[in-house]
Amino acid sequence: MRIDEIRAKDVHKIVEIVGEISSIGEVEHRIVGGHWECQACGAMIHKMCSVEDDKMNYPERCVCGNRIKKRFSLTSKEFADIRKIKIKEFEEVYGLLLIPLCVWIDETLLDKRKKSINEGDKIKVKGMIILSKNEKNPYVQIANEILDI
Ligand SMILES: [Zn+2]
Repeated sequence: MRIDEIRAKDVHKIVEIVGEISSIGEVEHRIVGGHWECQACGAMIHKMCSVEDDKMNYPERCVCGNRIKKRFSLTSKEFADIRKIKIKEFEEVYGLLLIPLCVWIDETLLDKRKKSINEGDKIKVKGMIILSKNEKNPYVQIANEILDI
């Protein structure tokens, strides 16, 4: 799909988006998720956190029915080396102001690719669309795949 086709219904879904790389950010060591222990039953719950907001999210509820924030304790945090790239539409759409889409990429994905990414590359990325609480703009949480097109 194209960046301008992303709609509210696509949030929290894994989608494939095509675009041209317009900027590549520096590598950042960021928190990406964590494991929580339910104090009521002892179950472990894994929860991703939204990278743009940079904060841990409590689990909404446990299988035992516990949904009280104070009854979950954080047992481990997960970090990753990620960088933010921006992709834009390759064609100008007349009269439209096109906002590039932010896509977070794990360095291990780039290492596996065995090829660097450069501004101007046309790519397809696959990943989950998230809405930033601060910016209200959609972004791709962490890309699962990058393909040349
Ligand atoms: Zn529980």
